[in-house]
Amino acid sequence: MRTAFNRWKNGLLVLLAALAACSSPDQPGGGPAADQDVRVRYSARRVVVADTLYRGRILDRNDSVLVATRPQFLLGLPRRPPLDTLALGLLLGWDSTTVRKRIADALPYPDARPGYPVQLLLTAAEVRRVRKDSAAWPLLTLTERQRRVYTSGAGAPVLGYVAAEAQPFLRQARRYRRGRFYRLRNGGVETYYNGLLNGHRGYLHPLVDAQGKQHGSWAKDTAFQQGQDLHLTIDVKLQAYAEKLLGGRKGYLVALDPRTGEILAFVSAPVYKAAAITAPDQAGVRAELLEHEDMPLINRPATLANPPGSVFKLVNAAIALQMRAITPGTSFRCDQSLVSCVHHHPRPLSLTVGLKYSCNPYFYQVMQSLIDCVPDSLAQDTVAARHANLAQWRRYARSFGLDSVLGADMPREAPGFLPTPAYYDKARRTRGWTYRSIYSLSIGQGEINLTGLQMANMAAIIANRGWYYVPHLVRGVGENGPLPRFTKKHRTLIDSVHFAALVPGMVAVLQRGGTADASSLADVGITVAGKTGTVENDEGDDHAAFVGFAPADKPRIAVAVYIENAGFGATAAAPCAVMVMEKYLRGYIAPKRKRWEKRIQNRARQDD
Ligand SMILES: [Zn+2]
Repeated sequence: MRTAFNRWKNGLLVLLAALAACSSPDQPGGGPAADQDVRVRYSARRVVVADTLYRGRILDRNDSVLVATRPQFLLGLPRRPPLDTLALGLLLGWDSTTVRKRIADALPYPDARPGYPVQLLLTAAEVRRVRKDSAAWPLLTLTERQRRVYTSGAGAPVLGYVAAEAQPFLRQARRYRRGRFYRLRNGGVETYYNGLLNGHRGYLHPLVDAQGKQHGSWAKDTAFQQGQDLHLTIDVKLQAYAEKLLGGRKGYLVALDPRTGEILAFVSAPVYKAAAITAPDQAGVRAELLEHEDMPLINRPATLANPPGSVFKLVNAAIALQMRAITPGTSFRCDQSLVSCVHHHPRPLSLTVGLKYSCNPYFYQVMQSLIDCVPDSLAQDTVAARHANLAQWRRYARSFGLDSVLGADMPREAPGFLPTPAYYDKARRTRGWTYRSIYSLSIGQGEINLTGLQMANMAAIIANRGWYYVPHLVRGVGENGPLPRFTKKHRTLIDSVHFAALVPGMVAVLQRGGTADASSLADVGITVAGKTGTVENDEGDDHAAFVGFAPADKPRIAVAVYIENAGFGATAAAPCAVMVMEKYLRGYIAPKRKRWEKRIQNRARQDD
């Protein structure tokens, strides 16, 4: 279609050029050629500047190559039996279990009958063995092609895939009920930065006469641009470490450098290997991933939004301070007739104590003072006051980048949700709803939903005392920096003093008696500021959440962890978060926590 159009267009151009030449035979500078033959034929050509392009590599923040285009060797097995697997094993130097496993992995589903094209990926050494013995194996085919090669198993949802290489996966996904989720473009930075990675061939469009002499251009020339390397913000060692901690469990971990918005680690669990989507011999692995009830192929931290639970008390407290509904010294009773309190604790005489013990009744009353406060102008109308206060609360909360897409460099980011007054008018079927019917907002339950990116960004905002850069995965393209929108500072509508007022309570959370005191890193001299959350779940075990940053006074890392159906935030999520902090800030885990680390990794494996 396109070529037909081009041919038609070119024909038209030749005609127009000929007409132009005919109508002005004696124009100045027409030259002798024009005098001799007015019916000059021009032809429009398209010249490619560079035929071969190099697709850029993908490197981590310390310049380790994660993805590059390299030759790959594929061994095609005969389509019909018999296949002497014993002899094949001898040929390749594999034992019989390996042979069986490699063939099973390559089949599109477990009991696939012979007749499918089975291809095995070989190493250079294996290729030499096959070539030496090729005469004895006339039915084997050996092909070499240029493919994207992943050097590490880590970072699958970050790296993504090249669409052309993922076609077998996308076809396979069509056969599954959940497949449509994965058929949506979910291809990580390979897809998001495809144009920059690929470069541009560059085209010239000369209009030439029969003698090959050029007479200008018939279309705008485009410049040749070599494919460029992508420099990720990810630290691949930290990424691999965090993936091991979450393993087969269901949830996410996002770690950011709050000073820049650079994403240091981005885990969507259950985790899978980066090459699984495109490797020609992994169809069986892909079938398992597509069938898996925990849906490992979903990019959880970007595309799913969850109730944040008690970690949202931080946002509510900051807003209440800004709206002067409370002060840092405000005291409330731990009144269990309002809402149950999970922890036994001393009376919350201040915001710091309320945060330390995550006292539900305290934050019930914080939100109540905010929603039920009646300004003078609305003294006679409590319904209007509640609507105005909720709208104001939402405006402040939205300045954290909530209830809207943050704009990270990944496909299909979700916006999350914050309820509006109108939402409650409809849901409660009356404009006269009371605080009592919406109080679950005060403990981060009910209608509020945040993505993992928003949770980590919320921790970064508190770490920065009120501002953030949009979280992103790429810090440099070729010789250039990140995309311009990632260098723009966003400020919340809340004064920095109110963020500073949260920090003592967050530090107390990890001190003796606090909800996450077991996760303290005081033994290695790191002060962590954090907040746990246990999110009620009507359909099963509660979800565990934690957000925090370290060091508390000069934060270099902010982390959000969410583990579904794992129970208490303090015992399930906080340890993962602080070990990622320790690993990043110190490079290793103190002996004291080694047994803990083992236990978490074992649990992550068992759930696998
Ligand atoms: Zn309490």
